[in-house]
Amino acid sequence: MTDSSRLVETFMENVRRRNEGQDAFLQAVEEVATDVLTIEKNDPGFARARVLERLTEPDRIIGFRVTWADDRGDVQINRGWRVQMSNAIGPYKGGLRFHPTVSPSILKFLGFEQVFKNALTGLPLGGGKGGSDFDPKGRSDEEIMRFCQAFMRELSRYIGPDTDVPAGDINVGAREIGYLFGAYKALKGQFNGAITGKGEAFGGSEMRVEATGYGLIYFVENMLETLGETIEDKRIVISGKGNVATHAAEKAICEGARVITLSDTSGTLVAENGFSQEAVKWVRAQKAAGEDVSDPPKDLELQFKEGALPWEVEADIALPCATQNEIDEDAAKALNDTGVRLLAEGANMPLTAGAMRKIGESNMLYAPGKATNAGGVAISGLEMSQNAHGRFDSADEVDRSLKEIMGNIHDRIAAEGREGNRINYRRGANVAGYRKVATAISAYGVV
Ligand code: NDP
Repeated sequence: MTDSSRLVETFMENVRRRNEGQDAFLQAVEEVATDVLTIEKNDPGFARARVLERLTEPDRIIGFRVTWADDRGDVQINRGWRVQMSNAIGPYKGGLRFHPTVSPSILKFLGFEQVFKNALTGLPLGGGKGGSDFDPKGRSDEEIMRFCQAFMRELSRYIGPDTDVPAGDINVGAREIGYLFGAYKALKGQFNGAITGKGEAFGGSEMRVEATGYGLIYFVENMLETLGETIEDKRIVISGKGNVATHAAEKAICEGARVITLSDTSGTLVAENGFSQEAVKWVRAQKAAGEDVSDPPKDLELQFKEGALPWEVEADIALPCATQNEIDEDAAKALNDTGVRLLAEGANMPLTAGAMRKIGESNMLYAPGKATNAGGVAISGLEMSQNAHGRFDSADEVDRSLKEIMGNIHDRIAAEGREGNRINYRRGANVAGYRKVATAISAYGVV
């Protein structure tokens, strides 16, 4: 065992003891610890402040009951949380997720990742995450509205433009943000930037909806540039069919790539010659209407493969854009076998620890979500500043900023992660994000 792996093991023993059974959180912490603990040990200020250990304990976890009435008038009870992870470099910032799998442990993992991601954007944003175990599948529009209002009755006590600024995540899109912000405004009697991802008619930024998926493609183009290649004509397999997946597909097609798959929990849509923009629009419309994608119109030339994963389809680039741990060791092996040379994460931590090891042993160029999907929170950061200054930037201006921010993230990571003529994007992202947060934490003293 090397000194550095002993250091990580001792650190993780302590974190494991305090967070038993919180596998996703432990996986996220260990990945960062592996890359930054030696840096912390060798910096007297960081070491004295015990920065990483502090970051594994959220500033606070707020939990509350959400009581609402369904369409039959029956009372329904859900749980809601906000994990305020760290406000070392700005107000807590991170999305809200509505999904039956949401728990304090999942939100801790997402909040932990968010701290480093937000630091990488170069904007003054702390990290947090929230949500509920509410399952919106099959719920009417009225029920979604009543649930959002009940959720905000509690959450509104803890958020504000300088305190904590939530946004969307899985199952929290434009409609939910509208209901949440409407409720916040009514409860507080204030119109301010306490939530991002708002509609453009009421303080939202142009391009926020597209930003995560578009930013992912800009980042991939930066990666390809270091290899002397472009995205044109590359075959791309994408998982998911939500906000991140469909906007990544849309931008990739604009840039001349061929998007071969999109997917959901029931199966994979394959377009052997590449999705058209019409086909992506159809997928998005089906999802918005709560309809499945198993029977696409003939003229879109899509094939639905029930139960299949996108990773067995031949491709150059893979973009997992669905959810955490969606790629296990078998899927990682399949990606290797089909000849994928570049994997960039649209989702947060889509690889299991085993899959990460497999990809690490291969020649695949890999970039983590905390870098590649940071475009969404970056444009949320611009939305906060537009709200604070009563400004409204045009779509062209925001798109230019997004491209610039993704380029800067790439360069910050490259500066920390260069290993010979290759860039280790995982290490570069962890170290660059950590250094910024650690510098702030060690400057504050013991608070
Ligand atoms: P959406 O709710 O818009 O879409 C998620 C999609 O993924 C759904 O279509 C869902 O399928 C599908 N899905 C879920 N689990 C699986 C699975 N195991 N296999 C295949 N498909 C699956 O979410 P987003 O697009 O907003 O978020 C996707 C990921 O990106 C998440 O990890 C999120 O944290 C991350 N992210 C999102 C950001 C944003 O701005 N929205 C910003 C940064 C990260 P079904 O329809 O069957 O449920």
